[in-house]
Amino acid sequence: MDKVSYIALTHIHIDHGGGTSLLISNLGAKPKVIVHPKGAKHIINPEKLWKAGLAVLKDIAITMGKPEPVPSDLVYSINDNEVIDLGNVKVKAIYTPGHTPHHVCYLVKPEDASTRLYPCGSGSNSNMCSDTSFNMSTLP
Ligand SMILES: [Zn+2]
Repeated sequence: MDKVSYIALTHIHIDHGGGTSLLISNLGAKPKVIVHPKGAKHIINPEKLWKAGLAVLKDIAITMGKPEPVPSDLVYSINDNEVIDLGNVKVKAIYTPGHTPHHVCYLVKPEDASTRLYPCGSGSNSNMCSDTSFNMSTLP
């Protein structure tokens, strides 16, 4: 896998942001973790996230595992409509409260259609990102 510079979280639920620290450990890198300002505290100190996950998901949460804290120096609280410039790709954060008050969607605009993205599904400890990537030129 290419070097990972950023992890952009859509929201902080145990099955989406809960595995972030484990992902960082497995990458052996120190990517910035982009998150809504209201979600940042929950990945820096995931105790409330863990308790809520246990209350709602019960055994499924136990299977996923207790989230480990993400070091605060890696957490970047992004502003609404802020653009992250990755060189040949621009990523715009758009606040989309609904599923959670701290939900963010990301609009990805590559300048080079050969840019590869590594989308992830659930971010739990048991179901992390795959090596699957896709070429931006395959998108409609
Ligand atoms: Zn969720």
